[in-house]
Parts: sequence; C-alpha cells; structure tokens
Amino acid sequence: MKRSLAELEALVRSRICKVCTERTVTGECGLEEPDFCALFYLFPQVARAIDSVESDDINDYVAAIRRSVCTMCAEQAPDGSCETRQQVRCALDAYLLLVVDAIEEATGKVFNRQSLGLTAGPTLRERPELRF
Ligand code: SF4
Ligand code: SF4
Repeated sequence: MKRSLAELEALVRSRICKVCTERTVTGECGLEEPDFCALFYLFPQVARAIDSVESDDINDYVAAIRRSVCTMCAEQAPDGSCETRQQVRCALDAYLLLVVDAIEEATGKVFNRQSLGLTAGPTLRERPELRF
C-alpha cells in the first residue's frame, strides 16, 4: 500500500491527537504553539526514521528518532538531553509506540502484538513502500 507523506501525517494526527494529553476538551491542540508539536513539525524526519528501522525492539526506533529527529529539534540541548522529553511533553516521545504502530500499519507492515513494551516492541514482517 502506498501512502503519501501528507496522508501518513493525517492518519497519525487522527490517531495521536485524540489521545494526547495536550488536547483540550474542545478537541484542539492545547500547546501554546501547536505548529511546534515535535511530532508534526518534524514529521518528514519522523516518517523516514521509522521507515529506516526493521526491528522487533522499540528501542531501535527510539535510537533512530534520537539520531534523525532529536538532533534537528530545537528542544534538544547540546548534551543530548531534552527538558520537554523529561517532562513528558513531547508527543513524539510520549506516543512513539502508537506513532510507529500507525505508520507501519499504514505502510503495509504487520505487527506481532504479543509483547509490546519498552524492550519488546512490534515485530515487522513486511517492508513499506513510502512515496517520500
Ligand atoms: S501536542 Fe501534538 S499530538 Fe498533542 S494534540 Fe497537539 S498536535 Fe496533536
Ligand atoms: S524528545 Fe525532545 S528533542 Fe526529541 S523530538 Fe521531542 S522535543 Fe524534540
């Protein structure tokens, strides 16, 4: 199944925003600057980072995000730390498993959901065909 980047972003928005703690009761993003939600303002990098991983360990996805997204994010400090992440206010970090799930599912990968967790993440069975 082929998905454009815009379609992938729309799908991820529909999955993540509705469960995000930043969302207001009226259904809008409660961030002071919604355009700077790290998940979406760096979405092309997020999608590529996830696409670059083929692993059954969610930590491999975390490493790819740290390497390809966090290094481009204005929130990351020179020492690699991130106050936003530490305060659980980065939607990308907080919902990474759901983000990976949504993107992999949309691009044709199939998960083994028997052992989702920090050290035993999704099992990928097919490579996606992304158009970006
Ligand atoms: S912080 Fe990001 S994920 Fe959360 S509601 Fe706002 S745009 Fe959606
Ligand atoms: S964890 Fe921090 S540096 Fe990484 S994307 Fe989120 S806000 Fe940016």
